[in-house]
Amino acid sequence: MSSARLLLDMQEIDQRLATSAAEFRKLASQLESEGNLKRLREDSESSRFKVLETRLAAGKLDAEVTALKTRMEDIESRLYGGAITNLRELTALEEEHNLSKRNLAAAEESVGPAKLAAEQAATKHDSLQVQLLETEEEWKVTSRELKKRARDVSKVCKGLEMERNGASEGVGERDLALYRNLLPRKGGVAVARVERGICQGCRIKLPIREIGQLKSADNLVMCSSCGRILLA
Ligand SMILES: [Zn+2]
Repeated sequence: MSSARLLLDMQEIDQRLATSAAEFRKLASQLESEGNLKRLREDSESSRFKVLETRLAAGKLDAEVTALKTRMEDIESRLYGGAITNLRELTALEEEHNLSKRNLAAAEESVGPAKLAAEQAATKHDSLQVQLLETEEEWKVTSRELKKRARDVSKVCKGLEMERNGASEGVGERDLALYRNLLPRKGGVAVARVERGICQGCRIKLPIREIGQLKSADNLVMCSSCGRILLA
């Protein structure tokens, strides 16, 4: 069998090997990312923080309202208690009363939206938790299947590697080196058949001289257009 023919056989095995290796890499990356569990866990964690954050904000506002109400009561009892008669002091107290009133109104207005935000955050977190638990259950099954498939594909790859090594026996060192060099540079097609005088690698018609060489030469003949090893 000619070197070119042997190399074509090798190429067929290499192409199958590339497909299986790509599938293995895909499976490995799916297993690594745990489906979309990783992202879901992150989302759930940040939603938990959001719950704490919004609850804290609502609690702070509640405390602020209570403090302001106490403050107002205190001011009012002093303002209307009759103990303070000094006009300047009374005016200052009245100003403080107005300021506290405005602050209280603002705080009371913010309590509702803050509580709503806390409720919404809690609802979102709950639904993410449910989704997370469901996805974890699903992943148990899916990951078992993926692992099994990855083991099978890995076996196929090993078998193909052995097959390819077997196929390389009988090919000269130099021809083998040339093939290995061309394969990645020519998109996995280092050996191209010639049909009706046309190189099937680049679809360009070969010069008569090259076709002549191909028929008579013992050495490998390369396509003058794409550089691939030709097989008549
Ligand atoms: Zn060509």
